[in-house]
Amino acid sequence: MYCPFCNADDTKVIDSRLVADGGQVRRRRECVDCSERFTTYEQAELVMPRVIKTDGSREAFDEDKLRAGLQRALEKRPVPIEKIEVSVGQIKHFLQVTGEREVSSRIIGEEVMRQLRELDEVAYIRFASVYRSFQDLSEFQDELNRLTALKPSLADNP
Ligand SMILES: [Zn+2]
Repeated sequence: MYCPFCNADDTKVIDSRLVADGGQVRRRRECVDCSERFTTYEQAELVMPRVIKTDGSREAFDEDKLRAGLQRALEKRPVPIEKIEVSVGQIKHFLQVTGEREVSSRIIGEEVMRQLRELDEVAYIRFASVYRSFQDLSEFQDELNRLTALKPSLADNP
């Protein structure tokens, strides 16, 4: 990185150690040009990206809202709360590792659907029918057929 004193573009690391219980790396650097020393701290940036809504406005990621959406789709379904929490954690992890500062709400919706499809097919259909706002009923029926084809038992016990 550039030297903050003389702006030279070459500095060397003279010491590097873990601090904050290994959550940060502290580096002593020395400028190759002016020999000034300075310290940098490096840590993983795991902030939740902001959400770009369909109307283009931005809002803070809301974990409670995400959880409520999953719970609504899973209402009266035989899925334990722990599994919902695991899904919430996986969706958050997915968003963090994108490294993006902003993600579209559509991306989050697709990820929610991916999680629901694994948790419970009925909940998945519930959510998808609303979220994707299927163009018409036949499109919705196609999705149902696709799923029942995967699992014949679902057709027997709708
Ligand atoms: Zn310098």
